[in-house]
Amino acid sequence: MTRRAIVAANWKMNGDLALVNTMVSSLTNIELQDNVNVVICPSSPYLSELVVKARAGNLSAAIQVGAQNVSEHESGAFTGEVSTQMLKELSVEFVIIGHSERRSYYHETSTQVAHKVNAVLKSGLTPILCIGESEAERATEQTETVLASQLQPVIDEVGIEKFIDVVIAYEPVWAIGTGKTASSKMAQETHQFIRQFLAQANENVAAKVPLLYGGSVKASNCEELFAQPDIDGGLIGGASLHAEQFKVICSAAKGK
Ligand code: PEP
Repeated sequence: MTRRAIVAANWKMNGDLALVNTMVSSLTNIELQDNVNVVICPSSPYLSELVVKARAGNLSAAIQVGAQNVSEHESGAFTGEVSTQMLKELSVEFVIIGHSERRSYYHETSTQVAHKVNAVLKSGLTPILCIGESEAERATEQTETVLASQLQPVIDEVGIEKFIDVVIAYEPVWAIGTGKTASSKMAQETHQFIRQFLAQANENVAAKVPLLYGGSVKASNCEELFAQPDIDGGLIGGASLHAEQFKVICSAAKGK
């Protein structure tokens, strides 16, 4: 087995203390397949509570906590921002970087995303780097160009060898929160492109990077998606707010 599978929950700006409790009790006796990690990413105010509750509830060590964003700066006058060290102090282990909502609503550029991935790696946290094309880009056959333009600045900044510690989430923007999922064939083809793109820089690293699919994954379509050879789990938005549905999705993931 060369690659672990990851199922990451992106709660976005949803959820509350009650969901933290429900999720922890629902995941208490989950049976995960070999080589699978589950990462729950709530809004920042709930990170600490989730870590504490997960420990108190004796959740499997395979279930970890992630943040949805982080500053590229170490510390200083950046009102409203959260640093990698702060996340580390809370025992957070993953950080979602470059989600399409951050790229579009908060104008995060691929250069800034690269700085953030660098900061996250330097601190010893694991970045979940999100990339994906818009509907218009897919329709005009620019998908591969867009994905390459999102990946290359990160490769240039951190170096391909560091991708051994990076998780990539391919999330077609048109499939996020819309109910429109990429077909498993389309998702596989795009994941294969991403892996080949990384392989041009380093084949060994490319073979080991977990590539997650995100975009309207639910209990009814996760198995088919996760069965694809280059899909190593998922980044789950809406369905991750429903503990029982999320549990089904986690149980379907399998290391490859
Ligand atoms: C996401 O926000 O990363 C996502 C994939 O959302 P959804 O599952 O709701 O499409």
